[in-house]
Amino acid sequence: MQIQFAERIRTLPPYLFAAIDQMKKEAVSKGADLIDLSIGDPDIPTPKHIVEAMKRAVENPEHHRYPSYEGMFSYREAVAKWYKRRFNVDLDPEKEVLSLIGSKEGIGHIPLAFVDPGDIVLVPSPGYPVYPVGTKFAGGIPYFMPLKEENSFLPDLDAIPEEICKKAKLIFINYPNNPTAALANEDFYRKVIEFAKKYNTVVCHDAAYSEIYFEEKPLSFMQIEGAKEVGVEFHSLSKTYNMTGWRVGYVVGNSKIISGLGKVKTNLDSGVFQAIQEASIVALQTDDMILKSIRDTYRERRDILCEGLEAAGFEFKKPLATFYVWVKVPRGTNSIDFVGKLLKKAEVLCTPGVGFGEHGEGFVRFALTQPKERIKEAVQRIRRVMEDD
Ligand SMILES: *Cc1c(COP(=O)(O)O)cnc(C)c1O
Repeated sequence: MQIQFAERIRTLPPYLFAAIDQMKKEAVSKGADLIDLSIGDPDIPTPKHIVEAMKRAVENPEHHRYPSYEGMFSYREAVAKWYKRRFNVDLDPEKEVLSLIGSKEGIGHIPLAFVDPGDIVLVPSPGYPVYPVGTKFAGGIPYFMPLKEENSFLPDLDAIPEEICKKAKLIFINYPNNPTAALANEDFYRKVIEFAKKYNTVVCHDAAYSEIYFEEKPLSFMQIEGAKEVGVEFHSLSKTYNMTGWRVGYVVGNSKIISGLGKVKTNLDSGVFQAIQEASIVALQTDDMILKSIRDTYRERRDILCEGLEAAGFEFKKPLATFYVWVKVPRGTNSIDFVGKLLKKAEVLCTPGVGFGEHGEGFVRFALTQPKERIKEAVQRIRRVMEDD
């Protein structure tokens, strides 16, 4: 028998992180003392009080049955309270909040609710690979909006051709941004809302990094007047509470948009394990001091990395949020070659910008997901390699 993959699978670009994993395995098998600054997965464990809440919840037989599709009311209520406390945004937990099996799940599925074959979806480049892939799985066509340094890594909506705008069913935006670490301001969000109203484009804002900030608190898209008329905001417990392995997130905002995604989900999955939702309620009530200490850890690492990279002659903007540093590769090289060089000569792994899309070429991304001693060691090695050139 011949087993053949469907076209939508065959035409996928190789998943960036799988290719990097391969490079990494090869280096480690050759005995390299690799410092991996490539992956956006916190090295710090989930705070104890959340783990303890999970242990208690898992004992409760009520949670052993199928969860409700939209999430426990108490979880959605905890999300609404968190939004009120953090952003002063009012949400109806019944209609304006939906649980997700990690925000990637919701981001990947939402085009199925709003995109018909041939429709356009506006996606940032560089950007999280799930935006264009989810689009293509739904039969949509991604239109890549370049995030350029001279525009502070915000997409220039005025530069999108009129005929594309008219066919744009969905737009993905993501601030604080992965991979560029840029923040968005109120002015930009206002323009997005204006655009969405003009072209009937559903706005999907990915706010996975809203709580990983250093100098200024990022805005929620939902804080901007009119946002709830046009869009939703995806959120994740992964980065905020070091819970990437737990697979839990949520989406908030426009009730009709939420119900569209809900329809897709009721036909595909059966919700989030209720014990995880119980633990997530506790997570959402986490004392600010714990979150501050997580941010302080990243800030210290950021400062070490940035100081070292600056001394080595690199060009970049010190990030105000996220746990990434987006760095220009030296002249005369490209991002993949440069990653290969650092891997071979410094045994330091970072991510080639081109893996996030064509417009990521010319940059690499360093993640602050290693202890500060390792980051110190990494910058020393990188400096040596750069000085030898
Ligand atoms: C990590 C990340 C997510 C989501 O993570 P989940 O663990 O699926 O909640 C979403 N968007 C971006 C840009 C990310 O970097």
